[in-house]
Amino acid sequence: MSSSSSSSFNRRDFLTTAALGAAAASLTSPALAAATDESASSGMVAAPVMICAGNSFAYLQRGFDAVVKGGDTLDAAVDVVRGPEDDPDDDSVGLGGLPNEEGVVELDSCCMHGPTRRAGSVGAVRDIKNVARLAQTVMLHSGHVMLVGEGASRFGFAHGFPKENLLTEHSRKVWLLWKETHSDADWWGPGIADPQWKNPPQFPAVDSKTGKPIAAVSAANLENNLKNNLENSDPRAEYWQRKLERMHEVAAGLGIEPEFRAAAIQRVLRPPTGTTHCSVLNAKGEMSGVTTTSGLAWKLAGRCGDSPIIGAGEYTDQDVGSAGATGAGEENIKVAGAHTIVENMRHGMTPHEAGMDALKRIVRNFNGDMNKLRFLDMTYYILRKDGAWAGVSLWEGYGPGQEHSIGVIHQGGKRKYATTALFKGYSTGWPPIPEVK
Ligand code: ASP
Repeated sequence: MSSSSSSSFNRRDFLTTAALGAAAASLTSPALAAATDESASSGMVAAPVMICAGNSFAYLQRGFDAVVKGGDTLDAAVDVVRGPEDDPDDDSVGLGGLPNEEGVVELDSCCMHGPTRRAGSVGAVRDIKNVARLAQTVMLHSGHVMLVGEGASRFGFAHGFPKENLLTEHSRKVWLLWKETHSDADWWGPGIADPQWKNPPQFPAVDSKTGKPIAAVSAANLENNLKNNLENSDPRAEYWQRKLERMHEVAAGLGIEPEFRAAAIQRVLRPPTGTTHCSVLNAKGEMSGVTTTSGLAWKLAGRCGDSPIIGAGEYTDQDVGSAGATGAGEENIKVAGAHTIVENMRHGMTPHEAGMDALKRIVRNFNGDMNKLRFLDMTYYILRKDGAWAGVSLWEGYGPGQEHSIGVIHQGGKRKYATTALFKGYSTGWPPIPEVK
């Protein structure tokens, strides 16, 4: 990836960087087609089994070993997601999570323990990195289910959780880059669900039903579009060239390492979402689940997404199954995604069908309008009490190399599978990049 400062920034760097970033996404409209192959993203295995979001895959084994030895299902799930929580390089969860718009990291988590049918949750927690365990502690050591903000942190300190600065140097610099170059594209609204919301000018309208471009501009491939735009001096391309040059310059000034600059710019242009989830079924048929996140980058202070909402970010019913979610939190709350999926399974759907139905409810909330749906993404991780599992998502991923995946471990081994997407192609970042002048 390009490590150029502005002095050596050239058209090729621009194309390379743009291909990674929202600038590129703004010029493409993924083709819409219902994905059909569910066989690659679902299966049925004998308990014990654990499933997780892709970013927890590296930590599945230790949780599984504990479950095999008779350890508690929720303890194991919390231990798996502690992996990304402790990892300063995972900037979507725990330590090193990208901060809110004020530069403060705020974490969300919730969990459910099937055998005792209990739940715990924490929202907008500052200064404590292992919020999955904090949610579990609320469940185990309080008469409440949900604590938020300062109260949640104080409860954690009382229970011996160390007070830690969660903003790593890396995340602080990316936040400063956002602040200095891009904070006019914020979360203050209007949101995409607002009836007055208009298609942003930099995203040419697509056919609302098919998602295909309606402009005279042919659906030529995106890099060619971009190249043509540059060669024809399209003001949009010039704008992006100038903008990216400046971002490279500011990134260099902030001391962001050359090899990370392009990725830092991408995070600014397209606020990353992250989150992780783990669901567990042991040999006795006991189930638990947990979801943990730093939420959306540059969010408003105090914003809670779906991850601390029991029934949205996570839901486990000992009699039926467990489901977790990552992606557009606001949309998932409105369909109570994880609970909807578990209820669907209770009424006879397979995990795959149950997840697809929840995704279709999100689609329904937008009347199927692809002008809006292209900005949303959602992934569900689903495990039924009989060992049937599935990973489904609205889109295939955020871009090449960033495909959605589900990790699965059982006695037969450990593997990561691509999710089955409702729509073919990649989602487009939100909020949209600012209007090109
Ligand atoms: N669901 C998370 C939230 O809305 C973000 C994500 O999963 O990417 O906070």
